[in-house]
Amino acid sequence: MSPKATIRQATVEYSSWTGVTPEALYEKCLTLAKNLWWSWQPEIVSLFRDLDPVRFRQLGHNPIALLAEMTPKQLQERAAQMVLYTRINQAHRRLNRYLANRQDTWGARKAGVLGSAPVAYFSTEFGLHESIPIYSGGLGILAGDHIKAASGLGVPLVGIGLFYDQGYFKQQLDIDGYQREEYINTKVEDLPMLPALDAKGAPITVSIDTRDGKLLAKVWLIHVGRTPLYLLDCDVEGNYPHDRELTSRLYGGDHRTRIRQELVLGVGGVKALRTLGITPGVYHLNEGHSAFAPLQVIWERMHDDGLGFDDALRSVAQQTVFTTHTPVPAGHDRFDSRLIEEHLGPLRDQLGITHEQLMGLGRVEPQNDGERFCMTVIGLKLSRRANAVSSLHGHVSRRMWANLWPWRVEEEIPIGHITNGVHTPSWLAHQMQQLYDRYFVSDWAERMGDPSIWQKIYEVDPGELWETHIVLKSTLLDFVRRRLSRQCRRRGEDDETVDAAQKVLDPGALTIGFARRFATYKRADLILRNLDRFGEIVTNEKHPVQFIFSGKAHPADEPGKNLIKRIANLRFDPRFAGRVVFVEDYDINVGRHLVQGVDVWLNNPRRPLEASGTSGQKVVLNGGLNCSVLDGWWAEAYNGMNGFAIGKGRHHVDQERNDARDAEDLLRVLQEEVIPIFYDLDDHGLPRPWIERMMNSIATLAARFSAHRMVMDYVEKAYLIAAGGESSDMSVR
Ligand SMILES: *Cc1c(COP(=O)(O)O)cnc(C)c1O
Repeated sequence: MSPKATIRQATVEYSSWTGVTPEALYEKCLTLAKNLWWSWQPEIVSLFRDLDPVRFRQLGHNPIALLAEMTPKQLQERAAQMVLYTRINQAHRRLNRYLANRQDTWGARKAGVLGSAPVAYFSTEFGLHESIPIYSGGLGILAGDHIKAASGLGVPLVGIGLFYDQGYFKQQLDIDGYQREEYINTKVEDLPMLPALDAKGAPITVSIDTRDGKLLAKVWLIHVGRTPLYLLDCDVEGNYPHDRELTSRLYGGDHRTRIRQELVLGVGGVKALRTLGITPGVYHLNEGHSAFAPLQVIWERMHDDGLGFDDALRSVAQQTVFTTHTPVPAGHDRFDSRLIEEHLGPLRDQLGITHEQLMGLGRVEPQNDGERFCMTVIGLKLSRRANAVSSLHGHVSRRMWANLWPWRVEEEIPIGHITNGVHTPSWLAHQMQQLYDRYFVSDWAERMGDPSIWQKIYEVDPGELWETHIVLKSTLLDFVRRRLSRQCRRRGEDDETVDAAQKVLDPGALTIGFARRFATYKRADLILRNLDRFGEIVTNEKHPVQFIFSGKAHPADEPGKNLIKRIANLRFDPRFAGRVVFVEDYDINVGRHLVQGVDVWLNNPRRPLEASGTSGQKVVLNGGLNCSVLDGWWAEAYNGMNGFAIGKGRHHVDQERNDARDAEDLLRVLQEEVIPIFYDLDDHGLPRPWIERMMNSIATLAARFSAHRMVMDYVEKAYLIAAGGESSDMSVR
């Protein structure tokens, strides 16, 4: 039979079954793959996985790349084998229903005024899914979770970011445990991106003037549920060769690269919105990187409405919301006067202000020639509403920027706080979701930010909750073993080592996870300060404890890389072999496995340097317990019954003494609280007091630290006021 005839025959069989051709079936799958909504629908994730489990994993869970390897006919055959037709049709119908529903949402009820004038949410990174590497860590994940939650709530919002075709690096450790960075070119055709089009249907390119010539950027569109995300990309014809690489990498390069990226994000982003015909009602700057944006909006206001600079500034600031994330002065982007003139000079001419005036907007002391231009300072000056990302971080930020408002007492510094939260459906394990489905009210998934929903956790059968956790834990251990043996094989280690890697970790042992950027303030090595006591804890035969570490160090951060090396090489010490492991290439995928399967999530930053932190919030949803320094979100979350606290919420000015004291208290908490409670089993082998804490943790924290609650807070405390023109209260507190 000719191939054509085969197709015809299959088509006939299939059509008689459902009335859909293989091509139409394929189109439906592509439509699903091209809206990231699929990534937080467990049924659709498993639908794509069922098409080809091995390839789906090998392709980094990228359904577009998977479909590109299949013909419609192959897809149809696979669908027939697996009986997938109904699932595909149902998923497709659900997506269409979701996209069509603009009325029956929280956003339609509460944020109607934003309907024709949406929030424009600017961020230099967006962590949406492991297959789209345009994020490096917490800031990006937060931005991704923010726009996903806005989609879920139906809040009118568009995202603006940059497209990095090489993204952040992939991490591999060499045989010595030293971090190597690898940059991989992403294939645009494998991503759910389309060129953004203007009203006439033409692809959009924006042009930004500098003293040194024009910078061009094209604009891509990604659909994140109901939220459009626009990404600017400098890899376009017409740019100088080095400028075509400007947006290749996230946080790569020197100050000049950085300011050029930020110019494209801020000024280019505003120009892109205008070309798209979008007139935002609110500009939300997620961190200082995008703080040039309001300058371009000021110019638009002067040009369109004939306002003078000062009036335009006041009007734009009223509409601008600024979120600061950095609790250390050195962490804020600062540029020297020459770089500012080179990149903002042409816009400054249009604004009709002097170089000194412009510099003044980025300085704490406007006249101080010695002060560089700080993106946080201009962000604060060009926004009427500013916020930190946890209550404690609010205090720290008000103190840090008090000299911007020297006439005010600290409590009146206009920086409030809205604590970060996580997008529940993106981080919640499917099995845990099914458990909640059985016990919670039927529409709980639409009301995840409502604390009363989660009180039902106390009605769950403790044995069932524990069993679900054990299933997730064993999934995590399988994942870690697979990763570790792959790591060993890649490094060319002998068969014995590869075999041993397949058997690491004990399903019965208390499993503690630690994964984050290896910035030194996060103190990944805190528990290593007393190696002998750490060894005793880990090798205890009756009450064993094991650790899974993961995380990347910034490519230029040697101390961070040495930390990784030290931890990774513990595998050569017999006390720690098979009990303390390091999983390479921490990303959303590794993170998801970890937060869903650990018993305990360890977080021991140097207080108060963790602005919020969100990884521990993901652990809560899945029944893990936090053991953390009282910093960031945990300082306001811990109540004595819903996890564990390291230290007493104070810190010593002397860093060494502070670290020594926290290290001591960490060991104490593990030995006196965490381990005894974990191993306190009843006659049925259930750790009752532990399960009670799991329930307390879920009941008290899941709603409060969800991105749904966070976005609702932004709407009510910031967006509506910024859009509405009320101008009295400057604080979002
Ligand atoms: C959640 C997450 C983060 C942020 O977590 P922190 O608590 O701020 O460290 C960073 N990276 C990945 C991959 C994550 O999933």
